Amino acid sequence: MELMTVPSEETANGVNVNGTNMDELKSEWQRVAENLRGSIGEAAFQSWIKPISVRGLQDGIARISVPTRFMRDWVNAHYCERITELWQDENSDVENVDVGVFTDRALKATAKPDVATAVVQPLAATDTVLSNHAAQISASLDRRYTFDQFVVGKPNEFAYAAARRVSEAAKSTPFNPLFLYGGVGLGKTHLMHAIAWHIREQEPTRNVIYLSAEKFMYKFIRALREQTTVDFKEQFRSVDVLMIDDVQFIAGKESTQEEFFHTFNSLVDEGRQIVISADKSPSDIEGMEERLVSRLNCGLVADIHATTYELRLGILQSKAQRVSAQIPPKVLEFLAHKITANVRELEGALNRVVAHSQLVGRDISLEATQDVLHDLLRANDRRVTIEEIQKQVASHFNIRMADMHSARRARSVARPRQVAMYLAKQLTSRSLPEIGRKFGGRDHTTVMHAVRKVDELREHDSSFAEDVELLKRMLEG
Ligand code: ADP
Ligand code: MG
Repeated sequence: MELMTVPSEETANGVNVNGTNMDELKSEWQRVAENLRGSIGEAAFQSWIKPISVRGLQDGIARISVPTRFMRDWVNAHYCERITELWQDENSDVENVDVGVFTDRALKATAKPDVATAVVQPLAATDTVLSNHAAQISASLDRRYTFDQFVVGKPNEFAYAAARRVSEAAKSTPFNPLFLYGGVGLGKTHLMHAIAWHIREQEPTRNVIYLSAEKFMYKFIRALREQTTVDFKEQFRSVDVLMIDDVQFIAGKESTQEEFFHTFNSLVDEGRQIVISADKSPSDIEGMEERLVSRLNCGLVADIHATTYELRLGILQSKAQRVSAQIPPKVLEFLAHKITANVRELEGALNRVVAHSQLVGRDISLEATQDVLHDLLRANDRRVTIEEIQKQVASHFNIRMADMHSARRARSVARPRQVAMYLAKQLTSRSLPEIGRKFGGRDHTTVMHAVRKVDELREHDSSFAEDVELLKRMLEG
């Protein structure tokens, strides 16, 4: 149970351990809060600022707390900087502000030796307890994963529209469940977090829970062990929107599936919204029970397709705007062209290029980009297989594929074979012996000879050089 508690630094006489008067601190906070009320408006103030309480000041860190983890994330994401600035104006000892989760229940729990069991005790069904429950089960949300920051293109427009629809459907369930699926790094988690952020912003009282299937299983197994499954179920009762990420994880895990199925059914029956993600469609996940598959298929199944060049470029442009660095369009185009696996890798590449330029204090250029990313670019190139090279070369020179492996030494077949070996060396990360094996079990010295020969020919015969260049470009496509 990831319950964050902040020990109270207030002592009996109202003076905290640092020696700062607690009453003073509280009135500083009041002024900070009043100031915020003016700038953010009454509604936001009531939702986010009013519930904050002051816990103390120690080593320059002013500690404040809110009742739920969600509120903590929200306050951190939206108000923390402003609070820090305002507080510093009040009290120059304040260097930083730390937002924790602190409730009366948490306080009681800390008084007991075993916090984990204490927090799953049956509880009175008051509103605060319920939302607190939700806050305990839900994983925290990434502040960057909002609809605003999601770039929409052909491959993901359907999934995006479905996610938006769910997030805007107050108290109704347009389709249940919404099942999002697609390969790794294509934005499933991003969309789920975006749904959660949006709902919490529009209707802070609705209970939205987001967690991975792995966490779900982990919590369920622990409840079994501690014989608290009734409480485990109770925790999900108050949920309005339940989102479970990477559900393929529970494939083949029978008892977890069973539990999930029951949770799922009872929530759907009560008209609560469920959103699920997986790396495959419900029917394609192996080891999923038939009845679960058919239930999952009942709602809306939306897949996110592999990225296109246009989407990759759009994502890069959007990310580039958010980092304070000048990135030439040529570099963005190059990355969109080269890093095709998924968005996560694309982001990683961009970050590396930016970080490198900041570290060495030089502008971002195409050359520097190629340099910084050479390992990644090679990994992407590795996707060209030796077979593809052989096929392409054979058809280019109009010889049979079998001649790539044969012992025939006539120049009409030997030369294309050498070209294929040369390209295999250039475009894949295979070693010389490995390449030799793929060409009818030839020795690595034969491959080495071929590479040298082709290099030599390229130098002296420009039309041959052009031929090789053309093949190379087609293969890199
Ligand atoms: P998944 O859960 O499908 O494996 P994620 O949602 O974790 O993928 O996405 C991986 C990374 O790519 C995240 O940092 C996410 O913000 C980013 N990303 C994915 N798709 C998009 C998009 N369409 N626009 C902006 N960022 C995206
Ligand atoms: Mg994910």
